[in-house]
Amino acid sequence: MNTKQQHTLKNAINCSGVALHSGVKVAMCLRPAAADTGIVFHRTDLDPIVVDGVVDGVVDGTVDRGGLPAARSGIATLVPARWDTVSDTVMSTTICNDAGVKVATIEHLMAALAGCGIDNVVVELAGPEVPIMDGSSAPFVFLIECAGLEMQQAPRRSVRVLRRVEIDEGDRRAVLLPSDGFSVSLEIEFDSAAIVEKSGFFDLHNGGFKRDICRARTFGFEREVSRLMDLGLAQGGSLDNAVVVGRDDEIMNEGGLRYCDEFVRHKVLDCVGDFYLVGGPMLTHFAGQRTGHASNNRLLRKLFSDPANWEYSHEVPQPSTEPMEHMEIWDRPSKMSGVIAGKIPGKIAATA
Ligand SMILES: [Zn+2]
Repeated sequence: MNTKQQHTLKNAINCSGVALHSGVKVAMCLRPAAADTGIVFHRTDLDPIVVDGVVDGVVDGTVDRGGLPAARSGIATLVPARWDTVSDTVMSTTICNDAGVKVATIEHLMAALAGCGIDNVVVELAGPEVPIMDGSSAPFVFLIECAGLEMQQAPRRSVRVLRRVEIDEGDRRAVLLPSDGFSVSLEIEFDSAAIVEKSGFFDLHNGGFKRDICRARTFGFEREVSRLMDLGLAQGGSLDNAVVVGRDDEIMNEGGLRYCDEFVRHKVLDCVGDFYLVGGPMLTHFAGQRTGHASNNRLLRKLFSDPANWEYSHEVPQPSTEPMEHMEIWDRPSKMSGVIAGKIPGKIAATA
């Protein structure tokens, strides 16, 4: 794959599945799109009349990545997937256009698109939420690989982080550091004996996502299920689409975990999806402690709040050249339990 050029899908491809939070069945179609379109969702359930003319109008190359296709074209059913269209981060990442049309739970599909190097696609969705599939990105990666990739005559554009950008909220903090590649180190903290591995470092260069991350499923706790249901969340949740930790800290899914550190890996998967909302690959090392969709988006908003923090780059991401596990990441000791102050955890070898 030529990672200097933008890519779209070679063919359109369909799937359908249950939406995790609303519980409804949703049909989805991934369609090829012209260079510089970016990732644009199209709510086909809301206005079936607009399908051809409108989507063609958006993907004909006249709309640049920094523009607002939905607003410019006046099409209320198009929702561009960008960091500044994120409207809700409770349990998942939701985007919303100027007309108030929303698409929820985009992050696992976004992660698959990032991991496969897809720059331009129109995601037709006959409902308010992306289907959850098996709770990971692997079914989306499979779909994308079935559709095939097509190289486009436009250079790929990365977002290079130029200086440290940090949010520090006490026991929750996140930082973007300059790097020639894209790597993630995360520490999670959950009050459960089932979650043994609580930290990890992952270099996502050159197939790292597909190899080490994409099969990690979302997870939840049996003790919280009724609370989520009361909030109208997780209505479509089941052991088919989430790892569920029981009241005695046992893994309730038949077959157990896919990776011994599946929980950390899924949090990394969420980061990959959330950070692809910058419109291309990022050249950065991201480190997080107890982070989630909300802090991921707050960090991106802080990054783009100052032009001195970042620049566009046409350079291809490189593997991490320095052993990140020896880098000083944090200014002050961690408030988390069991974490070595100021250091990020050592690299975890792929066990998949
Ligand atoms: Zn997730």
